[in-house]
Amino acid sequence: MPMKIAVIGYGGMGEWHCAHITENLKGTLELAGVWDIRPERLEAARAKGIFTYASEQAVWDDPEVELVTIATPNNFHKPLAIKALRAGKNAVSEKPVMMNAAELTEVMAVAAETGKIFTVHQNRRWDRDYQTVCEVIRSGMIGTPYFIESRVQGSRRVLCGWRGYPENGGGMLLDWGIHLLDQIMWMVDSPVTEVYAQLFDLMPGVKVDDNMKLFLRFENKLSATIEVSTNCFILQPRWHVSGTDGTAVVEDWAVNGRVVRLTNEDEMAWEESIVYTEAGPTRTMAPRPPETTETLPLPDVKTDLRQFYINVVSAIRDGTELIVRPEEALRVMRVVDAAFLSDRQGQSVKCRI
Ligand code: NAD
Repeated sequence: MPMKIAVIGYGGMGEWHCAHITENLKGTLELAGVWDIRPERLEAARAKGIFTYASEQAVWDDPEVELVTIATPNNFHKPLAIKALRAGKNAVSEKPVMMNAAELTEVMAVAAETGKIFTVHQNRRWDRDYQTVCEVIRSGMIGTPYFIESRVQGSRRVLCGWRGYPENGGGMLLDWGIHLLDQIMWMVDSPVTEVYAQLFDLMPGVKVDDNMKLFLRFENKLSATIEVSTNCFILQPRWHVSGTDGTAVVEDWAVNGRVVRLTNEDEMAWEESIVYTEAGPTRTMAPRPPETTETLPLPDVKTDLRQFYINVVSAIRDGTELIVRPEEALRVMRVVDAAFLSDRQGQSVKCRI
């Protein structure tokens, strides 16, 4: 029997969840209905044949609903998650799971007390560009990774609606930044020991970070940089991964890119080539002889986003371990807290997260 789910907040993402549930998760989930505080959004849902609840309380009171997905602006995630759990529902929050680590600790305590499942929709763990980078690293094709650059860049220079306001949990660190952090921290099995962040508010009147750059150092010596730009007119690759024996580049979400790796270190000799710039010679930066490297295609990786909800249902029914564990989300939120602190103080924050 499919599990009955209600969606709270029928905006862009709420609409996406409803379509995903009805089109891709038949047999696992059944959409019971939606609730949104704006009547026009309820009207839009009804126009698509979706049942709409008469109030938020009506969702909590529906005995058939076992799972609730919260897809509202970020500042409502905590009160709605607590109400859902106390009403005996299991809950999925959209990302960011909460506004900060303290909020999440509170919600995790309510989940423990009520014995209900609580998790966060970190859907970008299933993005193909990300899974491809994971596979490059897992396979060892570039040796030991030591520096990972993960970027999303655009130039539209606008933040959509509530995303421009601090009281709603706006800004790019809590938006795309959360996805990129969750991806890196799920990939690297080592504590974060240092966080340095610079948050920018470039657009006139904007009171949140509309662009951000973040540097992470892990205990195992690997480090990573994360960038979210809304003011970038010449894009860099989505991923650039440096390993001891090669480099991997993933250009875009369509997963164009390549791996270049060493084949024969012995053939290199200092004297062979020299490059002259206007101001002087260099041997260190002279191009490598092509016969000492090989270029390989990126591994072909398949992903299946349905696994997120399939896992949540299985965790509720059979006690399967969650793929997106609240403890992992808590680590991410603690790094976010450290990033805000780092930006305020203008220096890096030493930690063990
Ligand atoms: P949106 O503004 O399009 O939609 C939010 C909806 O919530 C609106 O219709 C609004 O009326 C409704 N709402 C506000 N307060 C409410 C309340 N208290 N109760 C019920 N409804 C309420 O925003 P969005 O882009 O859909 O973002 C919603 C959430 O989804 C955010 O947390 C955002 O970070 C997240 N999101 C996640 C992804 C992803 O890929 N995982 C992508 C986009 C957005």
